[in-house]
Amino acid sequence: MTKVLVVGSGAGGGILASELSRNGVEVTIIEKGPSTPPGDAHRHYDIINTGVEISRTDCVGGTTMVTAGNAVRTCQEELLKHGINIDAELDEVEEEVGVTTLPDSLFGEGTLKIMDSAREMGLAMEKMPKFIDPRLCRPCGKCVLGCSRDAKWTSQEYLKSAINSGAVLIDNTPVVDILIKDEKLKGVRTPDKDYLADVVVLSAGAISTPRLLQRAGLEAGAKLFVDTFVTIGGKLEAIGFNEEVQMNALLKRKNLILSPHFSSILADKIPGALPGDILGMMVKIRDSNQGQVTTNSVVKYNTALDVELLCEGAALAGSILTSAGVDPQSLVSTPARGAHPGGTAAIGDVVDSNLETKIEGLFVADASVIPRAPGAPPVLTILALAKRLGKYLSKERI
Ligand SMILES: Cc1cc2nc3c(=O)[nH]c(=O)nc-3n(C[C@H](O)[C@H](O)[C@H](O)COP(=O)(O)OP(=O)(O)OC[C@H]3O[C@@H](n4cnc5c(N)ncnc54)[C@H](O)[C@@H]3O)c2cc1C
Repeated sequence: MTKVLVVGSGAGGGILASELSRNGVEVTIIEKGPSTPPGDAHRHYDIINTGVEISRTDCVGGTTMVTAGNAVRTCQEELLKHGINIDAELDEVEEEVGVTTLPDSLFGEGTLKIMDSAREMGLAMEKMPKFIDPRLCRPCGKCVLGCSRDAKWTSQEYLKSAINSGAVLIDNTPVVDILIKDEKLKGVRTPDKDYLADVVVLSAGAISTPRLLQRAGLEAGAKLFVDTFVTIGGKLEAIGFNEEVQMNALLKRKNLILSPHFSSILADKIPGALPGDILGMMVKIRDSNQGQVTTNSVVKYNTALDVELLCEGAALAGSILTSAGVDPQSLVSTPARGAHPGGTAAIGDVVDSNLETKIEGLFVADASVIPRAPGAPPVLTILALAKRLGKYLSKERI
């Protein structure tokens, strides 16, 4: 029987393992991080301090454990240019992870003020689609720490279904090398032992996957994007926005999005303001994919175009917040950060439209394959791409 190894259990790895194992394929998932209850996921943040601060989590479920629950369709046009249509997979994934907008009862005063103020300015701000179960959610503003009520979808759900169908999950085990002999894929190496397989799929995320590819002799790691963001905010006394569901609304502009967002960094910057006194908005851009992952470094800076987009978004956020009642004198910004690293094993450059590398049987299914910054939450796209690969592998290759 064909053996498949999936490296990493985040957005790409979990659904792929589930899709393969329910089609009767023998799957082993090897995950660097530990198993963790959703509410403890924040303990596993692995933050890279480069020009732009890049966040991810290393644990079972990967970075899906700390998402804000935002479920937006992205990259469809870009993928079509590469002959990839993920419409059907997006429909399936949205059904599986339960995408919905939240009921009015889960919208707080701060978010409503921002939405009203945007509408008064003639800007179309809509409810954000979420993979949050409204029956379980009690707003606390802490989605990105991991949900202690397990109200938010995470990749652990696909992992559970994969294990129920016979997949094996090995945690606390980093893959350190791809095994190749006589130009043929043999499996992977971990510190303790080698695992042999016919097919290996790298789903280790856009920082780790290119490093494994580089060690296998492939050119990867260029064109890193992160969907750079800043949070702009100011003082609105006792608004209590920090305990609302974050990013519960969405304003789309060309190459950027705006969404209601609190950051504790803002509270530290505004004299006399407590966290409950701050109203803020995230400005997230489609950044230039000019970063680079090498064996021992990550380079990511803001280009002139990135700065222009961030400024445009910040100006708009400042106007919306001011008309929502924020003291304009108090407006400040966080530094530039990025939570969506991708692009480092891009379709068309490092993998083909079936997500296979030049090494037969070695595939990639994670944010690395996305060719261009989405400038918006990418999880649905990663899930759809990995599901499509799962179908291809189980129906046409195995
Ligand atoms: C704070 C925050 C909020 C976010 N909110 C949203 C949101 O609301 N909506 C959205 O769409 N996106 C969101 N994102 C982005 C989203 O979580 C990521 O884009 C997505 O999880 C990336 O999927 P991936 O499969 O590429 O990597 P990951 O999900 O990071 O999975 C990679 C996995 O591989 C493991 N791994 C790494 N190296 C190795 C190795 N050598 N061997 C074995 N295992 C390894 C890691 O431990 C990890 O479990 C958010 C991100 C952050 C940081």
